[in-house]
Amino acid sequence: MKIYNTLSKQKEEFVPIEEGKVRMYVCGPTVYNLIHIGNARPMIVFDTVRRYMEHKGYEVNFVSNFTDVDDKIIAKAIEEGVTADEISKRYIAECKKDMAAMNVKPATKHPLATEEIGGMIEMIQTLMDKGYAYNVDGTVYFRTRKFKEYGKLSHKNLDDLRSGNRALKVTGEDQKEDPLDFVLWKPKKEGEPSWPSPWCDGRPGWHIECSEMSKKYLGEEIDIHAGGEDLVFPHHENEIAQSECCNGKIFARYWMHNAFLNIDNKKMSKSLGNFFTVRDIQKKYDLQVLRFFMLSAHYRSQLNFSAELMEASKNALERIITAESRLKDLLKNAKTEEVTEAESALLDQASEYTVKFDEAMDDDVNTADAISAVFELVKFANTNADENSSKGFVAGLKKQLEELCDILGLIIDKKEEILDQEIEDLIAERQAARKAKNFARADEIRGELLEKGIILEDTREGVKWKRA
Ligand code: AMP
Ligand code: ZN
Repeated sequence: MKIYNTLSKQKEEFVPIEEGKVRMYVCGPTVYNLIHIGNARPMIVFDTVRRYMEHKGYEVNFVSNFTDVDDKIIAKAIEEGVTADEISKRYIAECKKDMAAMNVKPATKHPLATEEIGGMIEMIQTLMDKGYAYNVDGTVYFRTRKFKEYGKLSHKNLDDLRSGNRALKVTGEDQKEDPLDFVLWKPKKEGEPSWPSPWCDGRPGWHIECSEMSKKYLGEEIDIHAGGEDLVFPHHENEIAQSECCNGKIFARYWMHNAFLNIDNKKMSKSLGNFFTVRDIQKKYDLQVLRFFMLSAHYRSQLNFSAELMEASKNALERIITAESRLKDLLKNAKTEEVTEAESALLDQASEYTVKFDEAMDDDVNTADAISAVFELVKFANTNADENSSKGFVAGLKKQLEELCDILGLIIDKKEEILDQEIEDLIAERQAARKAKNFARADEIRGELLEKGIILEDTREGVKWKRA
């Protein structure tokens, strides 16, 4: 499988550090609000990378943090008159609901920055001991110029960066040795959450959080580190500097970055008012539609969000769901079991779409082309499966379609919606069947309802039902 590596600016063959295993870290959101659809892009994209790697047989240790101590969280806490902890806990819970609705698998581990402060202090201390960090009145800075490879991820030249940053020196950061030095630890301000440290009561800088959480849960060397492209500089560049100077090892072998999601061809921003949370979208669409929309473009291409594209995604996804439910009906009513010779040849032909799908995914996770292969399979199934098909043939196509959609994390096997009135009618029919001592039919109805998620309870006051 090839992956585009921001470090080398090339697609490279993926070779894991440990055979059969993948150690992957994805920078998670800062939790001070409901997540927006821009935040949803890396979640969906890298969940799909994980699913595909698992499908290829890798055991993926997938770690994604929540940044739960940050200026924005503190500001929101002050605004509401509650603690920062209350804000972050609330929005972590909300974020997890959104992730579930987008069918994003929970990470193997979701570390919280506030629970890992001890490890961050240890890393900073090691950097101090090795001469890579210095303390000025309680603020600890990283000595950027000491790390010779600084700039290797963002392909920035240190001298250019320095001249570009000269202006910083006059804006109150003159206690730094160099404008490029960045904060590892900062003293607390009144009313802010803080932790004791050898330098002062305070809190960590943002970058050291990810260096530590990645090290603790995945080890000093990992396979993939990922996030949105805005994180390349300075966040990921600084993570590399800290981790490699502290551990003396290459931090991450492959760096993956998703491009941005825009709205109506403009950058999403609160001030422009073109800002959607995942919850906003959920009011109008099943979030499977949002997932489909995100995967319809390659993750390194800018993606534009618009009402038209969402409608198109909804219709496209509907076509897959319709094909799936048609296969389900055909399977139920098929008259023969065994796959015929002609059908066997057709199944061979259909397997070509899986080959195409895998080729697309192997080429730097080209989900756009992978979805095209799914549509070719849909068309093939619509054309070649009918009332005369055998159970084996229909089951084969159905399984193939479900497998491909499952890799993309698209749920296509919808539980059929059943209205309250239909339930009441079936219950009435079941009562009549029981009265007529037709217990077989009565049981059949109970089973039918159960399949649709309706549980019946026979009570003294009559039959009661509830949705599972
Ligand atoms: P933040 O909470 O700002 O740290 O962002 C969490 C993740 O969402 C990071 O990986 C960001 O790069 C990513 N992200 C933020 N805005 C967008 C956007 N408009 N499009 C794509 N990714 C984004
Ligand atoms: Zn990070």
